[in-house]
Amino acid sequence: MTEMPRTITLPPMASGKPNPYSVALEQLDRGAKVCGLSPAIREILSQPKNELITNFPVRMDNGEYKMFKGYRVQHSNILGPYKGGIRYHEDVALDEVKALASWMTYKCALHDIPFGGGKGGIKFTPRNHSQSELERITRRFTHALGSNIGPEYDIPAPDVGTNGQIMVWMMDTYMNVVGFMDKNANRRVVTGKTLASGGSHGREAATGQGVVHCIVEWARDRRFDLNGSTFTVQGFGNVGSNAAKILARTGASMIAAGDWKGYIMNGDGINAYKLSDHVQKTGSVVGYPNARAITRDEFFATPADVFIPAALELEIGVPEAKALNVRLIVEGANGPTETAAEPILRAKNIDLIPDILANSGGVVVSYYEWLQNKRSERWDLEEVEERLAKRMKRTYLHVSEYAAAKKCDWRMAAMGIALERIGRAYSERGIFP
Ligand code: NAD
Repeated sequence: MTEMPRTITLPPMASGKPNPYSVALEQLDRGAKVCGLSPAIREILSQPKNELITNFPVRMDNGEYKMFKGYRVQHSNILGPYKGGIRYHEDVALDEVKALASWMTYKCALHDIPFGGGKGGIKFTPRNHSQSELERITRRFTHALGSNIGPEYDIPAPDVGTNGQIMVWMMDTYMNVVGFMDKNANRRVVTGKTLASGGSHGREAATGQGVVHCIVEWARDRRFDLNGSTFTVQGFGNVGSNAAKILARTGASMIAAGDWKGYIMNGDGINAYKLSDHVQKTGSVVGYPNARAITRDEFFATPADVFIPAALELEIGVPEAKALNVRLIVEGANGPTETAAEPILRAKNIDLIPDILANSGGVVVSYYEWLQNKRSERWDLEEVEERLAKRMKRTYLHVSEYAAAKKCDWRMAAMGIALERIGRAYSERGIFP
């Protein structure tokens, strides 16, 4: 196999957004060039190993049955068991899950965590369902996945629309089908569980915490004082709200936020804790009393020092890149930036910390949770936070040095490091048979 595979332009998604798998393939192509990855390995990584789609019926509270479509994509397990979140969202589609699964492979490789990449989801709107319906949907999906997941094979975690409770239902369903004697050895089939059911201290806030570690390192490099600075956040769920709360401790002030329902702004600052309470009660940032409503366009044009996208993929297209007036974008979300937007951001001297580095705190602490379960240990919060801080800072430094050495942008530096690790494993092991 000597020819370099060409990047395919895939059709747009049903939502009208560009296809995230095209973006993932573009990034693979560019990263492969940066680190001189062999064409054969690039070809292998350009498709996931396994793609599973399952259609399953679930009884609704009114007694009627409804069909659901679930996905699990296993991209690569060359470095360890498949690892990646489960998303509940109305736009979940195969190409989206494929992109997300591949980014998990690169994220774990970047951190040198012994996991591969996977991702899954169900196409539906969770906020339209009761807790008991959510439980039945989750348990039936887990049952349908069967032995396609497993504590040494494929380990799901929370993502958009899922949380610790949903992970506990997945774990419990899996544990109850593996056999009585093995039950407790299978707790680590999922991570991101609640504390009471085998989760880790620090996991819930870990992704937001990791985002803030990156911002703090960036500010140190740039000799930029975060105290008194401003930031904006798109998506105020697990990642966005935790990043906002933790970043506020540096003295930075959140001046705008937004989610699926709308956007708000207050130049004097929005209290992230109070906004979180409001979102818990109402399901959205909209209607928060101490801010005024703004449009999505106004949100993207709001001048600030730092912008944290923490919603869905490809929210930063060319118009958003042109509108943005910030110094730094820290990708809390996976794949929030379109390829065509990147040169515009660079021309405007906007720094960008890419997703596979910026939002990797979650998978790092998921790995710690998995290890604790495997060893029947419970680490205290300080220990988890200390380990996370050390690993985030080390990887941040590695990416910054690699970017300087290769004279490439940070996304390509992160991809280059990840692909070199994957490439080495392939070249040592060879390709079977
Ligand atoms: P979440 O469900 O807790 O929150 C998602 C947020 O995005 C919500 O505020 C929602 O209203 C908002 N949103 C949804 N559609 C939107 C739209 N069209 N426009 C604007 N906002 C919209 O999910 P999360 O776990 O916080 O995940 C957010 C992002 O971070 C995703 O890209 C996810 O893949 C990524 N991520 C999550 C984790 C994790 O540990 N949870 C880890 C790494 C990366």
